[in-house]
Amino acid sequence: MTPSKGLVLIVEDERHIADLQRLYLAREGFGVHAEGDGAAGLEAVRRLRPVAVVLDIGLPGLDGIEFCRRLRAAEDWTPVILVTARDEEADRILGLELGADDYVTKPFSPRELVARVKAVLRRAAGPQATGVHRIGRLRLDPLRRTVHRDSEPVELTTTEFNLLAHLLARPGQVFGRDQLLSQVWGYADYRDSRVVDVYISQLRAKLGDASPIRTVRGVGYSVQESSL
Ligand code: CA
Repeated sequence: MTPSKGLVLIVEDERHIADLQRLYLAREGFGVHAEGDGAAGLEAVRRLRPVAVVLDIGLPGLDGIEFCRRLRAAEDWTPVILVTARDEEADRILGLELGADDYVTKPFSPRELVARVKAVLRRAAGPQATGVHRIGRLRLDPLRRTVHRDSEPVELTTTEFNLLAHLLARPGQVFGRDQLLSQVWGYADYRDSRVVDVYISQLRAKLGDASPIRTVRGVGYSVQESSL
C-alpha cells in the first residue's frame, strides 16, 4: 500500500461526473470525498481539511462562485480547481479573481483533471528557493510562504504567491504570458493567457502602491530592478 497523497474534496452535483473524478483521483493515490452541493462542500472543507478542492461552478443552492468567495473570506487558502462549462467564461474569470487556483473546462479528460490537481499541489509545496526576497516595501519569505508590505501581512492565494515569488526571484527578467503559464502554472500546451493578466491585476490590487510589477507592452511582465 502506498500512503495516500492526501484527501481531495470533490463538490459536484452530477453523480456520474463525481464518480469519474473519484475513480481517476483514487487511482493516483488520493483519498477522495464527494459532496453534491456547495453548502455541504464548505462544511466538508472545515471538517476534513482536504489538500485540494475540485469545484463545479454550477451547483444547486450555493454555487461554485459563492463557495470560492466564502472560502477565501474565511481566510482558507486550500487550493481550488474549478470545473466549468465552455460557456461559463465570465464565471471562470470571476472564480479566478475570487481566489480559485486553476480550472478545467467540461468536457474534460479525467487525466487532465488529475494533472491539474498534481500541479496545484506541487505549486502549494512551493519553490525550493529559501532566500527571503526584499523588494522596495515588500518582503517575501518562500519558506514560510508569507508576504509583508511595510511589516503588514498580505494574504495571497497559492497561485498569487507562486507568481509573485517567480517574478521576484528574477528581477529585471521579462516574462511572456505563455512563459509564465508554463513556468508557474505548469501548462505544457496553449492556454488562455488572459488568466495571467487576471492574477497580475489581483496581485497589484493586493500590493497597492508597493507593487513592483511592471507591464512590458507586447511582451508580458517583469519586476523592476530599480525598486530593489
Ligand atoms: Ca453542475
